Amino acid sequence: MTSDEHLQRAHDTGTGAGGITVELPDGSRRELEAGATGADLAAAIGRRLAKDAIVIELDGHLVDLGLPLPDGAKVRIVTAASDEGRHVLRHSTAHVLAQAVLGLWPGARFAIGPPITDGFYYDFDLPGGVRFSDDDLPRIEAAMRTIIAEGQPFERAELTISEGLELFADQPFKREIIEGVGAAATSDGSASGEGAPLLDPELAAETGSGAVTTYRNTATFVDLCRGPHVPSTSRLGHFKLMRVAGAYWRGDEHNQQLQRIYGTAWESAEALAAHLHRLEEAERRDHRKLGAELDLFSFPDEIGSGLAVFHPKGGLIRRLMEDYSRRRHDEAGYEFVNTPHITKSDLFSTSGHLDWFAEGMFPPMELDDGQAYYLKPMNCPFHILIFRSRQRSYRELPLRLFEFGSVYRYEKSGVVHGLTRVRGMTQDDAHIFCTREQMADELDSLLNFVLGLLRDFGLDDFYLELSTRPEGKAVGSDEEWAEATEALRRVASSKGLDLVLDEGGGAFYGPKISVQARDAIGRTWQMSTIQVDFQLPQRFGLEYVGSDNTRHRPVMIHRALFGSVERFFGVLVEHYAGAFPTWLAPVQARVLPLRSDHEDYAAEVHAALRAAGLRVDVDSASEPLGARIRRGKMEKVPYLLVVGESDVAAGTVGVNVRGSNDPERDVPVADIVERISRAAVVGGYDQASGVAVSPGVAVAP
Ligand SMILES: [Zn+2]
Ligand SMILES: [Zn+2]
Repeated sequence: MTSDEHLQRAHDTGTGAGGITVELPDGSRRELEAGATGADLAAAIGRRLAKDAIVIELDGHLVDLGLPLPDGAKVRIVTAASDEGRHVLRHSTAHVLAQAVLGLWPGARFAIGPPITDGFYYDFDLPGGVRFSDDDLPRIEAAMRTIIAEGQPFERAELTISEGLELFADQPFKREIIEGVGAAATSDGSASGEGAPLLDPELAAETGSGAVTTYRNTATFVDLCRGPHVPSTSRLGHFKLMRVAGAYWRGDEHNQQLQRIYGTAWESAEALAAHLHRLEEAERRDHRKLGAELDLFSFPDEIGSGLAVFHPKGGLIRRLMEDYSRRRHDEAGYEFVNTPHITKSDLFSTSGHLDWFAEGMFPPMELDDGQAYYLKPMNCPFHILIFRSRQRSYRELPLRLFEFGSVYRYEKSGVVHGLTRVRGMTQDDAHIFCTREQMADELDSLLNFVLGLLRDFGLDDFYLELSTRPEGKAVGSDEEWAEATEALRRVASSKGLDLVLDEGGGAFYGPKISVQARDAIGRTWQMSTIQVDFQLPQRFGLEYVGSDNTRHRPVMIHRALFGSVERFFGVLVEHYAGAFPTWLAPVQARVLPLRSDHEDYAAEVHAALRAAGLRVDVDSASEPLGARIRRGKMEKVPYLLVVGESDVAAGTVGVNVRGSNDPERDVPVADIVERISRAAVVGGYDQASGVAVSPGVAVAP
């Protein structure tokens, strides 16, 4: 049922004598006068709720607070401080933005203005090709505040297509959307395209005749919109306009380019301030900026978009990550393999990648009399060929093949982003071939392995997401799916972490668990995935000989723990804001002689630290100490060791620990060597010797 049918039903029931009864989410019932609205219901429950209510969920649809409630309806009051509430606030604030712009630039045309994550935008075309400048944003904000102060109502109306076209006679984008509704009414209902947030395809599809809804704020400002909205602009106000960007009409580069204004809006001044603070933090931590400042990596134009080069310091961190990963994989019973970067197209035909992943692949190159070769976007088929290279026995299972495999994916230039979305990357990729009976245990130890690894890298706030069988076509029997999904679910819930079900969100070839990690500022990153695959063993005809001497099909598990080394690197830079823990820091300690006559002693301290296997350098006395300390802090060196006259005599150092403003004096060299060595331990290993120590916990200063 559409919200408009509710509207109709509400009118039908609202005119009768006597009261109505509605049911609340807790199953309780409320009696109200006939014609009572969502706002009346909220007021009847409490003053606080009346103030916080934004919209009503009526039998599963969000509707305006001012809508009369039908008798017997199931209702839920949605408040501002919820995802749905913020969505409505943001959408309503977008309308106010449009009204302000149309007021300031008479003749401006407006396109669409949906809510988005954390905010909203609106697309405009200004008369005479005028461009917004960032200086315009404060003016627009001021006009928006005036509209908000006026407490304008959002009044809903339903129009026919021709009424809509007439109302928006001067607004070509709105007319195009309305024409889309008309077309949708006679076709399959999906014609609203990019305008979807403004339209109710369900409405268009169900009404048959086609209709449009509008929200009017003043005699002159009305917007095409499916709603719902806040009852009045006075409910808004905690917003900020963020920036201006270009955007193509309907997201199509062949269409006219419009100007997009982005904004954010929240339920309270505190929530807005917290969001702006998060943005500032995110900017401070931006791995692209820190990557340049700390001389870790770059993206030379000469190489191309999304293709990174790692500089010595970044290369060192990367090597430490990889070495650590190799050691852990070795311990966990993985076997190391290597496979090439390109292959004949047949391999990806067999695997199915050319059917369902071709868009994400680089175009083929032709070699050897017209034979097409592809850069690999995934390592899976290569590992499968290794499995299939000879007859396999159950005694070899589980067979775990691991590789730092470099893959290439054709990401659109618009989505390429620093190290987190690249075109060339190296996955810490493995494929596990096991029997069905081994699957549950294998998944369990795998998840422990992943979580342990992420924790060693300082990520320890997780939740898990379980993606289950999609509707319709899926490979594998019901029984196999049920078994694998149940195994994943059991394994996931045994970890004591929150488990979010992504019902039907799995790939057609098998269920999956993904590990979502929250970083130091609370952002969520999808890290590792563990994917069960029923399809590829079938497509490649994989078999092993069982203890019963007959052939069986193995189960295949795909897993990448870092995801890609590049992306994980980028996430770590942001998580640590560039201040890598001692075990990963490119320079763990730096010795600063106070004057040039302390340089010999500085060399001795340097040698002592090096002898302990630590990464240390000396910043000589050719510059003032203050400047060298500042540089060391900027480079985020964990330990700055200053040596002066008394240190030379006593065999000590002054210690500036990263993040502390209290330098320690007169620390014996042997003590600091031991302290830094301890801090450089992670995951039970001494970084210098590779010898296991216990208990293995990283001590990050
Ligand atoms: Zn709207
Ligand atoms: Zn794979």
